Amino acid sequence: MTTPLLPLGTPHHDEARRLLLLGAGELGREVALEAIRLGLEVVAVDRYDRAPAMAVAHRHHVIDMLDGDQLRRVVEQERPSLIVPEVEAIATDTLVTLEAEGWRVIPTARATQLTMNREGIRRLAADELGLKTSPFRFAGTDAEYLAAIETIGLPCVVKPIMSSSGKGQSTVRQESDVWPAWTYARAAARGKSDRVIVEGFVPFDTEITLLTVRAIDGTHFCPPIGHRQEAGDYRESWQPCALHPDTLEACQAMAKAVTDALGGWGLFGVELFIAGAPDQPQTVYFSEVSPRPHDTGMVTLVSQSSSEFELHVRAIMGLPLGEITLVQPGASAVILAPGASDRPRYAGLDQALQVPTSKVYLFGKPTAHPNRRMGVALALGDTVEEARARAIACAKQVQVML
Ligand code: AMP
Repeated sequence: MTTPLLPLGTPHHDEARRLLLLGAGELGREVALEAIRLGLEVVAVDRYDRAPAMAVAHRHHVIDMLDGDQLRRVVEQERPSLIVPEVEAIATDTLVTLEAEGWRVIPTARATQLTMNREGIRRLAADELGLKTSPFRFAGTDAEYLAAIETIGLPCVVKPIMSSSGKGQSTVRQESDVWPAWTYARAAARGKSDRVIVEGFVPFDTEITLLTVRAIDGTHFCPPIGHRQEAGDYRESWQPCALHPDTLEACQAMAKAVTDALGGWGLFGVELFIAGAPDQPQTVYFSEVSPRPHDTGMVTLVSQSSSEFELHVRAIMGLPLGEITLVQPGASAVILAPGASDRPRYAGLDQALQVPTSKVYLFGKPTAHPNRRMGVALALGDTVEEARARAIACAKQVQVML
């Protein structure tokens, strides 16, 4: 594979080992903090100033990360030991060229390219690896779309092939939803493609993220994280998520297959749908994978001995992970903006933090827009149910004022 990033230099000195973080959001902020704890110099990059990770990085740049020339300029200027994508919207073709020139892209440039695009990862998971997924078709024209809807049938889910956090996604339940879903998906498409995926609706009972880490001491799995999504975006997550032992084994086998195919070192968020109750064998569907820490994995900031962010940084530096232990059942609940503002303010933390074991992380984003994630509430419990109730009670008390 590669070699560990040793010896380490000192930040700001010539020998510093530099991590270039492409995407400086709330997940990037935690990655930056862990990287700094382990002695790296961190340079944060995003398309807007005052992004969360910029508050803790040694330096930052504001560029359009979808612009390959701008991306190359920053890499050549900063000469990073590790290029660490934290979002999908990056000029991944440029990452492929940079990697071929000898720069190290986490986990690999090909992995960032395949997972940026729903078409790439579906073809790998379903067609090449034979993993069970929802039935799917891709469409780029009105005629292809209609044919896809006819083949898949209703209900189905329509999404831009390049999008995240539910942007442009809708469920088509009846004839009258067909064209609005097409217009919505194409309007929201980001990046260069306006193709869509039409997926059969999976009547799952639970959806989980299986955090899977490829490191120098092998592939490790975190206990499964259950989560609840609304409008394609996560609202709460909890760990562990109860699964039948056979189901857990099946989930780990899928995660191993897909992460081995993507390769490299680092943490991956493998998203799976589970149909059936945990007291009997369940059906597992592969949904998608992020080759980086996952938003639903923020719960690990309290529930695991090493968070997903620490595990990611250790893995990409070529350091061993050892055993991953669950401290206690934990949960996270998001704090969303109720509307737009260019100077959001926060109230209610005094009430929120009266909830036992709770913590509040505010991200310090410079502006708010409706349903933008501005913070997260975290809590532990003797049971998952108790942790969830606490995280939700805590998040409810925090008011984002516009
Ligand atoms: P995604 O952006 O693909 O992760 O989709 C966001 C969320 O929408 C998922 O976490 C599910 O809750 C829901 N979803 C996506 N695809 C499907 C599907 N084929 N069937 C049912 N629900 C889906």
